Amino acid sequence: MAFKATVLTLYPEMFPGHLGSSLSGRALERGLWQIETVQIRDFAEDRHRTVDDTPAGGGAGMVLRPDILAKAIDSVAASGDHRPRFLMSPRGTPLTQEKVRRIAEGEGAVIVCGRFEGVDQRVIEARELEEVSIGDYILSGGEPAALILLDAVVRVLPGVMGNDLSGQHESFETGLLEHPHYTRPQEWEGRSIPAVLTSGNHRAIEKWRHEQALALTQQRRPELLSSEDPYAELLGVKNARKRVEK
Ligand code: SAH
Repeated sequence: MAFKATVLTLYPEMFPGHLGSSLSGRALERGLWQIETVQIRDFAEDRHRTVDDTPAGGGAGMVLRPDILAKAIDSVAASGDHRPRFLMSPRGTPLTQEKVRRIAEGEGAVIVCGRFEGVDQRVIEARELEEVSIGDYILSGGEPAALILLDAVVRVLPGVMGNDLSGQHESFETGLLEHPHYTRPQEWEGRSIPAVLTSGNHRAIEKWRHEQALALTQQRRPELLSSEDPYAELLGVKNARKRVEK
């Protein structure tokens, strides 16, 4: 069965958004994944179709009401629906490639997009929503965050990437940032492609790429490095890591 995403939002017109183009768009057309949206506002009960109210305890902004959101969730996630339920939230667990892979192995996902100041805490608890963040910054709504989560998930679904191998050396998949890439022309503005890459020596190329990935990770994201890497000592990475930890 294809991976099925159900997105609860006040702005269903934002979907599938960019996921309707390119790789994910073709995969959608081919039925490799599905997306449906639910308009949270359809579950409001008053004449003005109100979904939010002022925060208890005072303060700026508005909060999504628990009763209305719960009804929207219950309308899609019937008993027997084992898909995980996510709430996009800057307070959530940061999304990682490992998490993306795990989501992609499942049947799909129910994703709630917050708006305003956020969502009433009680519905997060009562409907067991797992809060997921896409980074340490504040968006105006959960929709772009949901699109990013789905983008990352869809590209690792079986059959979506043209060349299934091309996912495996990427940043984070190996625990490291990826090595630099080059392509023709051989010479460009006085810069040439590193000679090893055109040497035809595949072992030397692998070694060079790995060293580059390590050096780049050490420079930019030292917290990602594991000192177990056989090349780490060679590059003084262990010592660099100790310096960072101090
Ligand atoms: N007052 C909240 C921010 C609300 S932003 C706080 O300080 O934590 C409005 C909505 O945008 C949130 O409910 C959430 O759904 C979404 N959002 C904002 N930033 C996000 C992020 N970094 N990751 C995931 N969702 C985010």
